[in-house]
Amino acid sequence: MLNQLFSIVCLGLFAATAAAAPAPACSPGEFVIALDVGHSLHSPGAVSARGVPEFRFNQELAAVVADALTAAGFRKGFVINADGRIASLQERVAEANRRHAELFLAIHHDSVQPRYLSEWTRDGVTHRYSDRFHGFSLFVSGKNPQFADSRRFANLAAMALTARGFTPTLHHAEPIPGEGRPLLDAALGIYRFDDLIVLKAASMPAVLLEAGVILNRDEERQLTDTAYRQRIAGAIVAAAQQYCSGVQRP
Ligand SMILES: [Zn+2]
Repeated sequence: MLNQLFSIVCLGLFAATAAAAPAPACSPGEFVIALDVGHSLHSPGAVSARGVPEFRFNQELAAVVADALTAAGFRKGFVINADGRIASLQERVAEANRRHAELFLAIHHDSVQPRYLSEWTRDGVTHRYSDRFHGFSLFVSGKNPQFADSRRFANLAAMALTARGFTPTLHHAEPIPGEGRPLLDAALGIYRFDDLIVLKAASMPAVLLEAGVILNRDEERQLTDTAYRQRIAGAIVAAAQQYCSGVQRP
């Protein structure tokens, strides 16, 4: 009887404790991050100052970021379009939805408007370049159903990048054709771009990272450097950890 009463009292206490406790926070081992490799083999995006297609930069950086996330315990993360065979933007989002991603990060490398391009010749081949702009930028869509959380991750990523010495580029805010994107935070290089398909069609929080300007000759070289890529990846891991710690499970 005593034992039974003890059990009842304990159960009651347990129930009260459970009811009062906050929902368990997200743990990296359970949190699902989708990394989308921007562009494709067929449509490879911008061409760098040394003639390398953007897709290859996106593919290589995404692989470094994926490894860093896995090493940090985000074991359920996955890469979309790692082989460059997904051309459709909708298909990328569909894969993220199907695999229950909780955060979507599109990896890109940046270009500039044609008016800023000059030509140089390297190893007998002429390429277009612009050394005018340098740095990262982040985009979020006001049409994403989870805009506030998209913005939260963008903030964390930008803060982690700037803490590691990276600087944002503000050239997408210039009032010229092809740009004119509203800046949400100039110090952090965060822009609003409502109609970016992958951002607005994703059902989970979604952010697009332009890791750097590959038309800039110095920055292009940095962006091919393993240690430099690992520093970018370190910033994304730090942002993911902080973001995850703020996620409450239902
Ligand atoms: Zn791109």
